[in-house]
Amino acid sequence: MPTNRQFLLDSRPQGAASAANFKLVTGETPPLQEGQVLVRHHYLSLDPYMRGRMDDAKNYAAPQPLGQVMQGGTVGEVVESRSPRFQAGDKVLGQGGWQEYSVVDAEQKGALRKVDTSQVPLSYYLGAVGMPGVTAWYGLEKIIRPQAGKTVVVSAAAGAVGSAFGALAKARGCRAVGIAGGPDKCRYVVDDLGFDACLDYKQHPDAGSLSKALKQACPDGVDGYFENVGGMVMDAVMLRMNPFGRIAVCGMIAGYDGRPVPMTYPQLILRSRLTVEGFIVGEHMEVWPQALQELADLVAAGKLRPRESIAQGIESAPEAFLGLLHGRNFGKQLVKLV
Ligand code: NDP
Repeated sequence: MPTNRQFLLDSRPQGAASAANFKLVTGETPPLQEGQVLVRHHYLSLDPYMRGRMDDAKNYAAPQPLGQVMQGGTVGEVVESRSPRFQAGDKVLGQGGWQEYSVVDAEQKGALRKVDTSQVPLSYYLGAVGMPGVTAWYGLEKIIRPQAGKTVVVSAAAGAVGSAFGALAKARGCRAVGIAGGPDKCRYVVDDLGFDACLDYKQHPDAGSLSKALKQACPDGVDGYFENVGGMVMDAVMLRMNPFGRIAVCGMIAGYDGRPVPMTYPQLILRSRLTVEGFIVGEHMEVWPQALQELADLVAAGKLRPRESIAQGIESAPEAFLGLLHGRNFGKQLVKLV
């Protein structure tokens, strides 16, 4: 059996996460039991939710246990199988975690899924045609519920979720406006992703200033907002929400390192009769097949052209993850292992 390098969670962060929280270890993969398969990971997904699980705090999911392999989505290839359901060479999506190989109990429901790489590149199953894509789909379709011609806004627009949101919103005939950090990301959001406009929040010292810029980008106000960030950015959009506007609260990355994320104008929820709804995509498995189909169709049609930030080798995982939490990624953050 091959040697396997793995990252364990070694300690919990005090404030900001750091590379010292992770430990790289090398071990042998155990021999396969009946019903198990050995998967060689080609890509490891890095996602903001992993930061929340590093804390031993109340959350929607259990904390990542100390001393165990960091959990996370992976795509790869079956290299050996003792399950009738999988053969060597199958391309698969699973939850293999921050390691080069995983031994998976293939009979366990949902543990491993074969994927078709003839139309969609393998890595996209961790991004646009995977969990982040479905996240965008759910928030748009089930919470914002947009009508053609309405204006929708998304923060972290150049990222994995934000980029899928833009394509889905345009497919529904909406005016799509992004908010992202820096001129390169904003250019990409408009030129490559097809958004109607994108605002660089880093050019604005406060919510009032960003809100003024939003007024220009959204002349008819904002009907739906997909929140990925929180804080100043959320304040700015709330000031532009139309009556009966709908806000899908997907993420609050500005607060993931433990800083408070104050909301300055909660009175607008009342005054503008806003609907504000949080959601966790893993709690809505019933929509995944429909959402994944639409996302795959958009990719195949060239209407969703996601960008990827690819770090090389398992040893790069901690730095790439910390970079994601600080906006150094440009598109879906992955680690390439093969
Ligand atoms: P991204 O690929 O968008 O990467 C994160 C981005 O967040 C960074 O690139 C950066 O973009 C932005 N960011 C980081 N820190 C800040 C900050 N302090 N202020 C403003 N922006 C910041 O990640 P994903 O697309 O994977 O995830 C986007 C959001 O969706 C996250 O909040 C995540 O937790 C959430 N999520 C929620 C799910 C759910 O079920 N509710 C499921 C999946 C994701 P920039 O440079 O533009 O600032």
